[in-house]
Amino acid sequence: MRTIVFLIALLCCSWVNAEDVTDNLTIQHIRKLYPIAKQQWIDSGEPASKFAEVKVSINNIEYLATGNSGTKVMDFDDDANGSGWYVGAGPNVPRDKVDLLSVMVHELGHVIGYDHGTDCMQPLTWVGTRNITIPAHKIPFGTYYYVYPRRGWFRWR
Ligand SMILES: [Zn+2]
Repeated sequence: MRTIVFLIALLCCSWVNAEDVTDNLTIQHIRKLYPIAKQQWIDSGEPASKFAEVKVSINNIEYLATGNSGTKVMDFDDDANGSGWYVGAGPNVPRDKVDLLSVMVHELGHVIGYDHGTDCMQPLTWVGTRNITIPAHKIPFGTYYYVYPRRGWFRWR
């Protein structure tokens, strides 16, 4: 009986809406999650004016995504380098998908002028993981910071 209960719980937790995963990212997916990503930074004390000129593009690129503080552009790979994106707002990220919201919060940090650091500004992310925590210590561009590349991590920028 205990085994059956456990299996049911496992099925419930891994279930995800078909429309919340994609290999073909669109601007609609970005639009849905952008207000949440932006609010994470505003809640950490960033002025809303910093987000006035943010632009987005979707391409087939070598990285998951990039964020550029000069051009204010966030550029996303179309299929998360072959893994596929999880584009849901809910926290249950499928373990074989890359969480778009986490990547967006990270790139938005670059766009508003921050370098790699801890929490959501780590330069690498696990597939199947949500990390949208804004670091308590934000590192402006130009500050030296070193991390070890780890097997199984996806590089973002
Ligand atoms: Zn980065």
